[in-house]
Amino acid sequence: MTATAAKRPRSTEAQCREADVVIVGAGAAGLVAAIWAGRSARGSRVVVLDGARKPGAKIVIAGGGRCNVTHDHVDASAYAGSSPRAIAKVLRRFDVPKTIAFFEELGVDLEREATGKLFPATGRAAAVRDALLRAAREANAAILHPRRVETVTAGPGGLAVAGPWGSLHAPRVVLATGGRSVPKSGSDGHGYEIARSLGHTITPLFPALVPLTLRKDHFITRLAGLSVEATLDVMSATGKRLSSFTGSVLCTHFGLSGPSVLDISRFYIEALIDDPRTSLVINWFPERTPGAFEHELLAIGNTSVSGHLRRFLPGRLAGALCAAANVHPKTPGHQLCRDGRRALARAVTRLTLPITGNRGFDHAEVTAGGIPLKEICLDTMESRVCPGLHLCGEICDVDGRIGGFNFQWAWASGYVAGVSV
Ligand SMILES: Cc1cc2nc3c(=O)[nH]c(=O)nc-3n(C[C@H](O)[C@H](O)[C@H](O)COP(=O)(O)OP(=O)(O)OC[C@H]3O[C@@H](n4cnc5c(N)ncnc54)[C@H](O)[C@@H]3O)c2cc1C
Repeated sequence: MTATAAKRPRSTEAQCREADVVIVGAGAAGLVAAIWAGRSARGSRVVVLDGARKPGAKIVIAGGGRCNVTHDHVDASAYAGSSPRAIAKVLRRFDVPKTIAFFEELGVDLEREATGKLFPATGRAAAVRDALLRAAREANAAILHPRRVETVTAGPGGLAVAGPWGSLHAPRVVLATGGRSVPKSGSDGHGYEIARSLGHTITPLFPALVPLTLRKDHFITRLAGLSVEATLDVMSATGKRLSSFTGSVLCTHFGLSGPSVLDISRFYIEALIDDPRTSLVINWFPERTPGAFEHELLAIGNTSVSGHLRRFLPGRLAGALCAAANVHPKTPGHQLCRDGRRALARAVTRLTLPITGNRGFDHAEVTAGGIPLKEICLDTMESRVCPGLHLCGEICDVDGRIGGFNFQWAWASGYVAGVSV
């Protein structure tokens, strides 16, 4: 048992045997729900149960230990899963200015980066977690951990929440158990089973914001550490562009990572589930089409092809792309045959990546899929199928892009659940 629970075991246990609100999960969404539940109904007994030894673990590891709390421009287009209208409705209730003011009030000033991402000015993710825990306690919420919840059952008097530690009854329960990503943080996906047992459907779950893998002998794996701006396109079997992201791509020993790879991963994986013939194509030179690049090669005269490529690409990548196109890097432009030009233009601007898979939930920042918002009343985040049950955070079928959007969903949906319970 941790310090929080150990310090006042008897009084806390006694006080919490029955509660007005039980919140399952002390992550981003659950803590915000606890703060607003406590603040909105003074004197009510709010109990937060978390299965992990350390609650809020994901907040601490987020953003490389800096926690990208939100983004200065948040709208539903940054999200996937449920309908944009439904997502927007929840986001509007707790928007970015409200989020900034909320954290400022908690003693965490946020600073905007040039990219639009907002981080704590101190650069410490732990400050965000600590401030949320403090504010939840100040709002009179009792935070008990480790208290893994195995079941939630509905009865005539409300809901019963149970685990190896015993059980609690409450008229209102908030399920804020997160998704399946990084299960060692405490979010192992059991919350979906609980929601299913109470009548909810769960849309297919798959890792999102996840690095992608390539064959071990693919040339990209030998470029580990190299980061370039590139465009990634998800292409259907019929050649239709399904989604596209331009941004930083990081070559690694296992394949590809970096912001635009993470962003496109959920769209690629989802399309692949629909049709295994889906492909992922990279353009290392985002402004160029294959035709335009071929044309450009015709005009480089005595310059070697690798010399030309090095004008806009790192030397190691330039050499690797020549090899992939089967073109000698020293070939002067005017000696390049038509087939060579065409092969090089394709390798540079339309290279199909033989993706072998993804790094799975252990390495995914978020889980795509979950409880569809159509099963939730969005004014209160109360379940439409199980009265008294509220849902918020990643357990819902909502996942956002890199940039603070996932936390913004957690803050906003947690707020709506908290003020409503
Ligand atoms: C490495 C990494 C970096 C990230 N960086 C960012 C970032 O910088 N910006 C951003 O916007 N998003 C980021 N995310 C995503 C973000 O962390 C999540 O979207 C967000 O934490 C979801 O909040 P949540 O409260 O729904 O779930 P979680 O934060 O996962 O919290 C769920 C809580 O429920 C508890 N729990 C689960 N099951 C049970 C159970 N059966 N009984 C009791 N307790 C249970 C867990 O222990 C956990 O404490 C990152 C994610 C990862 C993995």
